[in-house]
Amino acid sequence: MHNSCLATCLVRNSLTPTNFQTSVLSWFKKHGRTDLPWQHAISAYRVWLSEIMLQQTQVKTVIPYFERFIQRFPSIASLAEAPQDEVLHYWTGLGYYARARNLHAAAKMIMTQFQGVFPKDMLDIITLPGIGRSTAGAISSIAFNTAQPILDGNVKRVLSRYCASNEDLWPIANDFTPEKNVAHYTQAMMDLGATICTRTKPKCNECPLQTNCQAHQLGQETDFPQRKPKKETPVKKTIMLLLQNTAGEILLVKQAPTGIWGGLWILPQCESTKEISTWCRDHDLTIKKRTPLRAFRHTFSHYHLDIQPIKITVTATADRVREAGRYLWYNGTQQVGLAAPIKFLLKDLHS
Ligand code: SF4
Repeated sequence: MHNSCLATCLVRNSLTPTNFQTSVLSWFKKHGRTDLPWQHAISAYRVWLSEIMLQQTQVKTVIPYFERFIQRFPSIASLAEAPQDEVLHYWTGLGYYARARNLHAAAKMIMTQFQGVFPKDMLDIITLPGIGRSTAGAISSIAFNTAQPILDGNVKRVLSRYCASNEDLWPIANDFTPEKNVAHYTQAMMDLGATICTRTKPKCNECPLQTNCQAHQLGQETDFPQRKPKKETPVKKTIMLLLQNTAGEILLVKQAPTGIWGGLWILPQCESTKEISTWCRDHDLTIKKRTPLRAFRHTFSHYHLDIQPIKITVTATADRVREAGRYLWYNGTQQVGLAAPIKFLLKDLHS
């Protein structure tokens, strides 16, 4: 670690890592969350799954997804064996689908390269798709009680404020991580960031680090960590076709395996209304009726997508446009991964 950095932090705070750990751990004893589904029957698989689901997603959103997922895929082997469509189906609505694709790929890798057992060594864990340094640290410390630091968004916020520093916080995270009781410490740091040292309104009066927290002493809590200047979010537009056949089924098309919505089923899209007739003709569909539905905006992390849905009744039976694995006439019962706005549109259509 940068010793000077830690030394500055410690001198300023007159706290040793041991005292820091004691404050955090005694807070956890009284206030930490201990009733989350992945905190019971702890296994590397359950911790890994929860850590992946919790990336960019709040605990209360994750809980029902975690429970459904673990019920359907109770082991790494069952996850590895499942078709990708089914895995994505159980992820539908959680967003950031690369997480699910990586989870699935990693389960397969564990079966083939680690004899079906989640690896214990950090160097092995980090080779699994979708697992970065912080997630590997969380799995190591919570599942195996191995002293490894984590630095997810929540922990970064706590440490950055505690030391009033925008420098690289890995060395500090490393020095503050205890040798013993590391599972509770890790959980405590994540809880502190999620419930007390929150982004816009930290509850410093309830914080065990209040006395020595530099940002708090300076009254500059929300100045740390420094935010990147916000760029204007670009807007893209698309027309989505809800093509309904004579059986009432909707035509879906499968996205390529990578990129946004990779591996998910979406609606056919056109850039302009002029293209609709051509698209239908090319796919051997005769348009009977067109009805524009209410337009809406779907926001990704890096752009807005303005969607104009158009419902089109076509004279086609389910055997038209049937290229296996590429097109699907969806009747509402097939288990496939659907992009969130598509799920919303289909629900709206059937309600
Ligand atoms: Fe965060 Fe306030 Fe605690 Fe400092 S005192 S760590 S700013 S909640």
